[in-house]
Amino acid sequence: MKALVYHGPGKKSWQEMPDPKIVGSADVIVRVDTTTICGTDLHILKGDVPAVQEGRILGHEGVGTIMEVGSAVATLAVGDRVIISCIKSCGHCVNCKIDLYSHCLGDEGASGIGWVFGHLIDGTQAEYVRVPYAENSLYKVPAGVTDEEAVMLSDILPTGFEIGVQYGGVKPGDVVAVIGAGPVGLAAIATAGLYGAGTIIAIDLDQNRLEQARQFGATDVVVSGAADWKQQVLALTDGAGVDVAIEAVGVPETFTMAIEVVRPGGNVANVGVHGKPVELHLENLWIQNINISMGLVNTNTTPMLLKLVAQHKIPAGKLATHRFRFDQFVEAYDTFARAAETRALKVVIS
Ligand code: NAD
Ligand code: ZN
Repeated sequence: MKALVYHGPGKKSWQEMPDPKIVGSADVIVRVDTTTICGTDLHILKGDVPAVQEGRILGHEGVGTIMEVGSAVATLAVGDRVIISCIKSCGHCVNCKIDLYSHCLGDEGASGIGWVFGHLIDGTQAEYVRVPYAENSLYKVPAGVTDEEAVMLSDILPTGFEIGVQYGGVKPGDVVAVIGAGPVGLAAIATAGLYGAGTIIAIDLDQNRLEQARQFGATDVVVSGAADWKQQVLALTDGAGVDVAIEAVGVPETFTMAIEVVRPGGNVANVGVHGKPVELHLENLWIQNINISMGLVNTNTTPMLLKLVAQHKIPAGKLATHRFRFDQFVEAYDTFARAAETRALKVVIS
């Protein structure tokens, strides 16, 4: 088969690789019909995630068709169309039992975040992929949901919702600031409304992204490059600060921005993947009673979010802006990485 392989910082190639094979009895082999690129793939390519070694097949999002099932797989069959969750989880280890799928211990020796595709196991930017613990990691796509909608449920919709909105504790009427209106930030904006957030402020450097944010439910937008960006945000809260600040970029500056606009007693939910240390001024924060949360997506809300996508209550399809073939991965990455010029949100490869 052909696959997109990581060859160290800045290097990748679409090349011939061995076909994946069933290893464990709970495995499934999926033909990848549709995949996409995530901000995290860009971090990996920059070398920000050193655990990813040369030779790894990239990608952790995908929709495909089951080609082969292991002997212990009872609820999935050859021919099923499925969402490939970015997180693999056995469903029965101590961490899975508390719904912390992102830290599944598994029983094949790999543990913790090793189960993210394109990280310590081969990924979905390939013609075929092996899915361990398939019954807990694949979701059948109902008729009426397109591949382009379904692929947004592999990672970005559950990420924005679980790590941004749920960890951020969004409540009815809250003022929520989402810093970074990339696909993950837009997913947080779109799902903050599910909990009845009153005001949703999108903050980004890029004017295009802010225009797009309004289509996903942002009530107000602020250009983060503006000298008075903070005053603009505080003015929308009568000076009090926001109830929940969601960081969806992954650089120290935006984490600091989140801390700067949250009200005393408010919540900062860090979603971004950080490649370098972030300063945490506990000497100032403790007296503000600020709660800070962070983490890797678990994807256990995927079935619920899938229902809402099927009912057109989350505009998942709008996230797909550009389309490429599998042999155009280089162009697809380039388009995604130059989003400020191309206006790309998610680039879909099929
Ligand atoms: P993206 O790169 O497409 O979007 C980032 C956005 O941030 C862009 O719109 C950019 O203009 C904006 N931005 C950059 N600098 C800014 C600044 N100083 N102020 C305001 N906005 C700024 O990325 P994405 O795919 O939307 O992902 C966002 C982050 O979420 C990434 O760090 C990604 O790695 C992370 N992520 C985390 C998880 C998780 O499990 N926690 C899962 C998936 C993605
Ligand atoms: Zn991702």
